[in-house]
Amino acid sequence: MNQRIVIPIKDARTQPEWPAAQGATEPAAADGSDRRGRRLRDLRISVTDRCNFRCTYCMPKEVFDSNYAFLPQADLLSFEEITRLARIFHARGVEKVRITGGEPLLRRHIERLIDMLAGIGTLDLTLTTNGSLLARKARALKAAGLERITVSLDSLDDATFRAMNDADYPVARVLEGIDAAAAAGLAPIKVNMVVKRGVNDHDILPMARHFRAAGHILRFIEFMDVGSTNGWRMNDVVPSAEVVARISAEMPLAPVDPSYSGEVAQRWRYVDGSGEIGVISSVTQAFCSDCTRARISTEGKLYTCLFANAGHDLRTLLRTGTSDETISERIGEVWGARTDNYSEIRTEATARERKVEMSYIGG
Ligand code: SAM
Ligand code: SF4
Ligand code: SF4
Repeated sequence: MNQRIVIPIKDARTQPEWPAAQGATEPAAADGSDRRGRRLRDLRISVTDRCNFRCTYCMPKEVFDSNYAFLPQADLLSFEEITRLARIFHARGVEKVRITGGEPLLRRHIERLIDMLAGIGTLDLTLTTNGSLLARKARALKAAGLERITVSLDSLDDATFRAMNDADYPVARVLEGIDAAAAAGLAPIKVNMVVKRGVNDHDILPMARHFRAAGHILRFIEFMDVGSTNGWRMNDVVPSAEVVARISAEMPLAPVDPSYSGEVAQRWRYVDGSGEIGVISSVTQAFCSDCTRARISTEGKLYTCLFANAGHDLRTLLRTGTSDETISERIGEVWGARTDNYSEIRTEATARERKVEMSYIGG
């Protein structure tokens, strides 16, 4: 058993001041980019910190048990507040919004939020889910305006999957959800597989074969040291280069150019034309230099890095009559002061530092 570093998941530091209040020195770049020249283009919004799974790498049962204090309903951003923020971020140049969590399909009437966000018009809208409620929700999500979806699935082997989600949840039900999403017309469907050495790496090839035949894009994610509770060790990481080599030995792969700058996954296509895979190599091939992502936590804090330990409180601004212009300015100040590059400087020591949990900040 790994030694677990168990500390509270909410902001590890007290609320940081807005940069202007700290007497920020350098003015933000005129084009809205951060200190490393990166624009703000993507926004991930966590709509709940709760989940019906207890994936060992994300919400280990020992920590997220019946005593764990999830956020009360009143602390969550309302759909109206989320939509208002999405509009403000869109006006600042955000093109893509991903709804996540926790498990976003647990949030009641989530399709109403999708409908409200789709009403913004030109946003590229997507959602990441564990798939457990997808068979029930896929048609409503599509009807509300969702175009595409990402479903997480770590193994096709039922015993392995049940052990990884630690909720005894069967593979077959997630596969039904994926089928329902395809039948509803959500496309493309991406499938996320977090790979842990000695846990599910035996399933890399079966997963690749299965989703190549199904016509969905499988993405292999390196196990990350996000949060402070998952017992991360470098030895558990399977480098993406090894994943690609293993698949390519049986089903030859060739690299594909990114579809846009800042794309998280590196794309590879099967040379016989039967589809593509992606690899997300946050640990072995940091992509901070292209990182255009901001995150809003379930209770409305703004984070500029997945590995942050504190965020800026947008909810208070929303609930105290602040104008859209002022909120937009605050966001611009935070982004303008951003220097994040955690994956470039990761060590075993930084991995033990306190960071917010993924279920709270949004994956
Ligand atoms: N519950 C939804 C799901 O599982 O798809 C959405 C939230 S989840 C936090 C988003 C993504 O983060 C999932 O694909 C999950 O596998 C991934 N994830 C969670 N913890 C991770 C870790 N320690 N390393 C790499 N990926 C992780
Ligand atoms: Fe839940 Fe997703 Fe985290 Fe698994 S990865 S525990 S499904 S939030
Ligand atoms: Fe972006 Fe932070 Fe990940 Fe680097 S470590 S890619 S800055 S979220």
